[in-house]
Amino acid sequence: MLNAVIFDFDGIIVDTEPLHYKAFQEILVPLGLGYSWEEYLERYIGFDDRDAFREAFRAAGRTLSVQELKDLIHGKAEAFLKIVSVGVPAYPGVVELIRSISGNLPLALCSGALRGDIEPILLQLGLTEAFDAMVTADEVAASKPDPESYRVAVRRLQDIFPGKVDAAASLAIEDTPAGIASATGAGLKVLAVTNSYPRERLTGATKVVNSLAGIDLQGLHLLA
Ligand SMILES: [Mg+2]
Repeated sequence: MLNAVIFDFDGIIVDTEPLHYKAFQEILVPLGLGYSWEEYLERYIGFDDRDAFREAFRAAGRTLSVQELKDLIHGKAEAFLKIVSVGVPAYPGVVELIRSISGNLPLALCSGALRGDIEPILLQLGLTEAFDAMVTADEVAASKPDPESYRVAVRRLQDIFPGKVDAAASLAIEDTPAGIASATGAGLKVLAVTNSYPRERLTGATKVVNSLAGIDLQGLHLLA
């Protein structure tokens, strides 16, 4: 039996990757550092904003100061907010699944996105109160695929629900190879969804499904 569920955000709850891509390009194209959607999928999608900017500069052989990086992240967050303000649809079944778990089993969000990017979308989906704990890019030193963010998420749930949560009986729901590596590195089981990558790229997951539609908490127990 599972004793906790931890959701990734981008690519699992909402398809914000095209919106992130658009926001990145608004910042990077004027600097001569723009790249294609295909390159984003291949190289950048698993990174948080900090590492994505670092990688874009590194790939172009350009240096990036701490202050410049801060300004870029800030500018990208503003561009993203403007883009999402027109509305973002959730993936089929995911809001219903989150509601079926919330209040019944310890539930967390573990994302490489910034809290400021996530909160307006959760509000829009009516999920602001659904999660017991949230770990975002702003709160960890090393992002996915490093296991730190999942370790922190499990620890926070353990603090809230003493004696009721252990990593080996916790399920992460992920869409990227980097996310799967992070979760398995922290000792969790992983349900992968083929929202962003084909099944053969999601090896390492305990189970792979094409969609969360029609899956409720009972269904998750059976899958895991
Ligand atoms: Mg993801």
